[in-house]
Amino acid sequence: MAPCIFCKIAAHEVPARIVHEDETSVAFHDINPQAPVHVLVIPKKHFASAEETEEADESVLGHLHGVAAKLARELRITGGYRTVVNTGAGAGQSVFHFHLHLLGGRSFRWPPG
Ligand code: 5GP
Ligand code: ZN
Repeated sequence: MAPCIFCKIAAHEVPARIVHEDETSVAFHDINPQAPVHVLVIPKKHFASAEETEEADESVLGHLHGVAAKLARELRITGGYRTVVNTGAGAGQSVFHFHLHLLGGRSFRWPPG
């Protein structure tokens, strides 16, 4: 499969403002932020979306949430934050490499649009 943009960021082939990296994940600032803090947390392993994940991927998927919580503390997001996974074009997914959005620094409405 041809490497996607997020695979290239994870491989340091495309620049990004990386805020966290470990064996299985990378996190970096979104290029088009929708909140004062908007970070994307991605697995290094390529899955197009949540629909492609399997039971064996559960630990890395859980790890992404742990990384997001750690970053929310480090980036001092107060007053609440939101983690979002868009799955499929109908939900607004535009990059088909699984990613968790970490949004903070403003208030959020419910239900989301
Ligand atoms: P989605 O719409 O798939 O849930 O979210 C994709 C996100 O990736 C968008 O918020 C978009 O701004 C961000 N994005 C797309 N291309 C790049 C890129 O090359 N670098 C960074 N840092 N973010 C990107
Ligand atoms: Zn990828």
